[in-house]
Amino acid sequence: MSQVRTATEEVLHIGHYINGQATSRASDRMLDVNNPATGEITAQVALADKATTREAIEAAKAALPGWSAVTPLGRARVMFRFKALIEENFEKIARLITAEHGKVIEDARGELTRGLEIVEFACGIPHLLKGEHSLNVGGKVDSYSMMQPVGVCAGITPFNFPSMVPMWMFPVALACGNTFVLKPSEKDPGASMVMAELLKEAGLPDGAFNVVNGDKESVDTLLTDPDVAAVSFVGSTPIAEYIYTTGSAHGKRVQALGGAKNHMAVMPDADMDQAVEGLLGAAYGSAGERCMAISVAVAVGDEVADTLVEHLKPRVENLRVGNGLEETGLEMGPLVTKEHLEKVRGYVDLGEQEGATLAVDGRKRDFPGSNGYFLGGTLFDHVTPEMRIYKEEIFGPVLCVVRVPDYDSAVELINEHEFGNGTAIFTRDGDAARQFSTDIQVGMVGINVPIPVPMSFHSFGGWKRSLFGPLHMHGPDGVRFYTKMKTVTARWPKGVRAGGSAFVMPTME
Ligand code: NAD
Repeated sequence: MSQVRTATEEVLHIGHYINGQATSRASDRMLDVNNPATGEITAQVALADKATTREAIEAAKAALPGWSAVTPLGRARVMFRFKALIEENFEKIARLITAEHGKVIEDARGELTRGLEIVEFACGIPHLLKGEHSLNVGGKVDSYSMMQPVGVCAGITPFNFPSMVPMWMFPVALACGNTFVLKPSEKDPGASMVMAELLKEAGLPDGAFNVVNGDKESVDTLLTDPDVAAVSFVGSTPIAEYIYTTGSAHGKRVQALGGAKNHMAVMPDADMDQAVEGLLGAAYGSAGERCMAISVAVAVGDEVADTLVEHLKPRVENLRVGNGLEETGLEMGPLVTKEHLEKVRGYVDLGEQEGATLAVDGRKRDFPGSNGYFLGGTLFDHVTPEMRIYKEEIFGPVLCVVRVPDYDSAVELINEHEFGNGTAIFTRDGDAARQFSTDIQVGMVGINVPIPVPMSFHSFGGWKRSLFGPLHMHGPDGVRFYTKMKTVTARWPKGVRAGGSAFVMPTME
């Protein structure tokens, strides 16, 4: 990795990647990066000031004319080489993700694979940018659309998918001919720095992709700088709303994906084994730190709820939890930081105070000899919609069971929640499933699929307060977001148009 080492060589110093080079600045503030499974400080990441962020924007601006002039085929070839380089460095990046984020190694590999699929999608850019053509829209007049790059694009990403979420953005943006400044999460910046190096090795010109590590100061610079044309954001809802309003007020195109509270409705006719397995992976995988994690099981009828809790309880109590770098076959790692662990534990305290039934208490689980940020899987039953543990995003290994009497109440409950990222229904009734997918006010729907994350060639995005802005990420919406449409109307006959000059609004027969 191109991170600059400190004089002591003990702790990595992670700077920025600007104009094709790993770099740091004397003005950088520094922040510790921890291994969440051990609590050890593994690196210090630089936090850029306004001037350093501005340097990255300038590098991207300077690279724009050259990179946007490369043919779509030429840009696709860089993406093909980048894909091969990610594959060559696959294990190294996956281990880095586990070391900084805490998710188990198999999960880190899964994240990287899903990110790589967006690169594969971007490899098809010549086809995706073909546009539309209409022959003879009027007498000898033809019309066609052109999809041109937007300009300098910025990406601001969360901690929970340090490789995949940046890859939701930059492969499509670059393939469309834009240049890019990425501001990754300060909690796990390592993967972004490796990807910057690999893009250079793949043949991307210097300055076309830059990484600025930082916090609010660098984000605010990106949001207000007149040379940034578009901002993609993924993170929590209050920040997403701030990014959308501030970026839009400064004339930028913005897509800002926010938080979630994803419900899984379990109908009485569902295959209960399948529902239990689905819930376990979707609620506790990655310690619940996924925007598509299921955090609410909506049991339709008391019998369903009792069956779910009875089957989930022993499995949740015995989840295989540990350090993903040392063991394989684990189901869950630690939470990302000590502060986040305290926050999630606080929600478990709150659930008890609010009167929910604590079926499995993850606070009681022992992790002897570990200084990591571990919490056992937690299961609440008899959760009601007024409780804060139901309303708010906990983002930890905590599943709430809400009991409803029938299908209509399940749909009403889900539709009334402020978030609308993902949802699922488990049923064997095709009619109910079809009705659910139509009625539900949520952007991504699973039918007997607990985590319905769309593939790279479809688009990813929620509804309600889970997304600010009209366009989702990657797939067709990604190409729309990173291009400006221009429509050309052309006439090539000799001589003056029949009827001479047109003083009225032109119409075509
Ligand atoms: P976060 O909102 O705290 O941080 C996201 C990014 O915003 C980071 O790069 C951070 O440095 C920056 N940031 C934080 N505070 C800021 C401020 N005051 N001003 C400007 N920038 C700021 O989110 P997180 O904790 O890193 O990630 C978890 C959240 O992301 C969860 O809410 C999760 O649901 C959400 N998420 C959503 C999706 C989705 O697709 N909707 C995907 C992944 C994660």
